[in-house]
Amino acid sequence: MSSHRPVRVRFAPSPTGPLHIGGLRTALFNWLYARHHGGRFILRLEDTDQRRLVSGSAEHIMAMLRHYGLDYDEGPDIGGAFGPYVQSERRERHVRQAGWLVQEGAAYPCYCSAERLQAVNAEKRKRGEASGYDRHCRDLSLTQRAELEAAGETPVIRFRMPLEGQTLVRDAIRGESRFENSRLQDAVLLKSDGFPTYHLAHLVDDQDMQITHVLRSSEWLPSLPLHWQLWQAFGQKKPVYVHLPVILNPNGKGKLSKRHAGFTQNGRQVLVLAQEFIDAGYLPEAVGNFLTNIGWSMPDEREFFPVEAAIEGFELSRVNPADSVFPVEKLDWLNGMWIRELSGVDLAQRVRPLLQQAGLEVDDALLRKVVPLMQERMRSLHDFAAMAGFFFSDSFAGPEADAIIQRRMDTAGTLGALQAARQRLEEVERIECAALEADMRTLAQELGIKAGQLFGSLRVAVTGQRVSPPLFETMEILGLETCLERIDQAIATLQRQA
Ligand code: GLU
Repeated sequence: MSSHRPVRVRFAPSPTGPLHIGGLRTALFNWLYARHHGGRFILRLEDTDQRRLVSGSAEHIMAMLRHYGLDYDEGPDIGGAFGPYVQSERRERHVRQAGWLVQEGAAYPCYCSAERLQAVNAEKRKRGEASGYDRHCRDLSLTQRAELEAAGETPVIRFRMPLEGQTLVRDAIRGESRFENSRLQDAVLLKSDGFPTYHLAHLVDDQDMQITHVLRSSEWLPSLPLHWQLWQAFGQKKPVYVHLPVILNPNGKGKLSKRHAGFTQNGRQVLVLAQEFIDAGYLPEAVGNFLTNIGWSMPDEREFFPVEAAIEGFELSRVNPADSVFPVEKLDWLNGMWIRELSGVDLAQRVRPLLQQAGLEVDDALLRKVVPLMQERMRSLHDFAAMAGFFFSDSFAGPEADAIIQRRMDTAGTLGALQAARQRLEEVERIECAALEADMRTLAQELGIKAGQLFGSLRVAVTGQRVSPPLFETMEILGLETCLERIDQAIATLQRQA
């Protein structure tokens, strides 16, 4: 199955909008395959459908590949020996190859108007037949063609599909399938605007770029017999085809697509775009690890692994052709695992911009102290600002009395407990978390309340939150003075209520 040529694979997105997670997964699998074999990973922009182009999306796709660590060896912005890597810049070559196919009799010009094709299809529907071109122009004589050209008709070029026999195609993970040629279409290769269709353009480019393996979405599987025939018509060695399973939307019905962007499922946003995963606080390492597990598995079935291990294990035989859903809980779990893998310095660097975005001023020395408190508790990068943002805020609103008073406690009891805690704190010179915790446990016992009740009130008093990083470490970082001030504020709030 494998060729002896050096492995060359490509990711060939159409710059028609933001990069979708399915596209990112296709890029990732190609990249893993290239890296596994020490081959080349190529980025080619397929921009021949001029009406669908969206400006800025080529740059966006390249930025996403960079963010997710999928470095390419040849591409539009870095060049390479097989350029240009923007498909529209290769148009002359596509046109020439289409002409060559016509000359060889493997393709022909078709002059049918859109209206005629519609009428043909309407007729076919009436008769209960499958729609498709009726091959009206397939056997025009040279004279007839010349007459139509003279009348100013611009043709499309169609492939001359054999009318009999079968096409036997092979996909590296799905095996062989046979197609009756009589059921295949004479597909358009070159449109009347002079631009090639995907069928012709990708194939000519794959030829010219010496692509050895085509790993692409299984949505292209129905076109494989046409591509197979085209390769044969060109008399060239075919690449190995691998049609990757699609990622299904969370309810398991249908492909996860851009249409699902902005939807929620079980109260959570359904993430579809590569950018949305960044916005949601997922690390590129976690997203890459997660996507590697969709439609592929490690030889030892491990789910959490570094990219080096994925590169080493990336055999095509482990690609599972079945479509699969997108287990977002797995991504949360992996993200937590990956956050814990980071060095403190690295995690600080990743949360700093998010704190800044939240309008907080980041003191680096303080950030270095807070990071170890949070690292074990995070599942998303956003958890940091949500739970520990108060460390970086100048303004402290002071919690409501209701929040300070814990379950099965009343105002008077809480007030007494905070006053007693304050007294103990006054006796220390500086907060040392282990000693303070021991002290507060003893105090709770003396007061006849649960440690959790005292800690809860203290937590709300000093952080303003019901959930925070570990209390005594937090108090140590906040410092004695701040803690005393805030406890006083809480006491005053309770006194106003009493
Ligand atoms: N431009 C095609 C797409 O975005 C590429 C498919 C392929 O990899 O050949 O779907």
